[in-house]
Amino acid sequence: MQSLELADLFRAPCKTCGAQLKFSAEKQKLACDHCGNTEDIGFTRNKLQENPLDFKVENRQLPNAPTEEKRIFACQNCGAKTTVNYDVPTLTCAFCGSKNVNPEAQKTRLIEPAGVLPFRLSKEQALQRFKTWVGDSWLAPSDLKAGAALDNLHGMYIPFWTFDAQAHSSWEGDAGFYYYVPVQVRDANGRTVTQQQQRVRWEYRNGRHQAFYDDMLEMASRKLTQQENHVQEASRYDLKEIVDYDPRILLGWEAEVYSIDLNESARKAEEQIQEREQSACASQLGGDTQRNLRVQTELSNQTFKHILLPLWICSYVYNGKLYRFLVNGQTGQIAGERPKSAWKIALLVLAFILLVLFFMYLGKK
Ligand SMILES: [Zn+2]
Ligand SMILES: [Zn+2]
Repeated sequence: MQSLELADLFRAPCKTCGAQLKFSAEKQKLACDHCGNTEDIGFTRNKLQENPLDFKVENRQLPNAPTEEKRIFACQNCGAKTTVNYDVPTLTCAFCGSKNVNPEAQKTRLIEPAGVLPFRLSKEQALQRFKTWVGDSWLAPSDLKAGAALDNLHGMYIPFWTFDAQAHSSWEGDAGFYYYVPVQVRDANGRTVTQQQQRVRWEYRNGRHQAFYDDMLEMASRKLTQQENHVQEASRYDLKEIVDYDPRILLGWEAEVYSIDLNESARKAEEQIQEREQSACASQLGGDTQRNLRVQTELSNQTFKHILLPLWICSYVYNGKLYRFLVNGQTGQIAGERPKSAWKIALLVLAFILLVLFFMYLGKK
């Protein structure tokens, strides 16, 4: 189904000159690139409550199912009209490069974001973090530190789910304790010698464990699943700074709607809780070794929130190979792959070989 009406973009014109305002990470305000005027956003924290995790929610039909529907958007900067998918929250104009917010995109999903963590790290700061990080490793190629191929750095609000749950586990199992007994054995020459041999004394134990799991984060973007390990490394956020979702915070940035739904993410969060309960119960069981550990975990008071978190994303090609890295848009924590300089590694290998040869020479003398 395609409909090609002209859709409205979100507008926040500068009161002084009329140009589109942007959210500035440094100023934590709306700022005008044109005349330098700034406006306060007045962050609020009223909508950020936890929602009960009710799986019936996901079984209902989406009011506007994830859609391939296209709309025409007119750029607010240059007026050019482009056709894009209706569920894209931020649109970059192909003609002038300006970024626009499509306020309707979030409504194409059943659950709209309750909160957003505003970007704190500007593009310059993110680049600085990258240079320091690459420079950390002396194996990195020198020309990379100069910042080549970094035009591709995108500041993007990524959809996440957070989950809370109370876990109650009961466990039972056998804890094994090592002890040693002297045993008479024959050695290679046929003589009888005494050897200490390890034995295990098993002891049945049981108990209970409980814990509250607060704000377990699950990334909700399918596009980033290839980089899931890096996302985990870079997504240690201070969630206390989250404010109510407001489309103005997206002005000048990129954003996505979720593509991994609540149900799938909730199951992943539950698996993680089960694993953590399993290892907590194992450490209660104790012993030098264990067997037959059975853990029964029940979850209650399960709640969720849908939020947007800031991430700098970059992929670049270096010597014909694709590299990716991520920078946390709040803390500057960085994760990814860094290219290594081939000749520096060759030099290191050569130095090692020379060292080995040197010791071999010493050994012969
Ligand atoms: Zn202005
Ligand atoms: Zn434009």
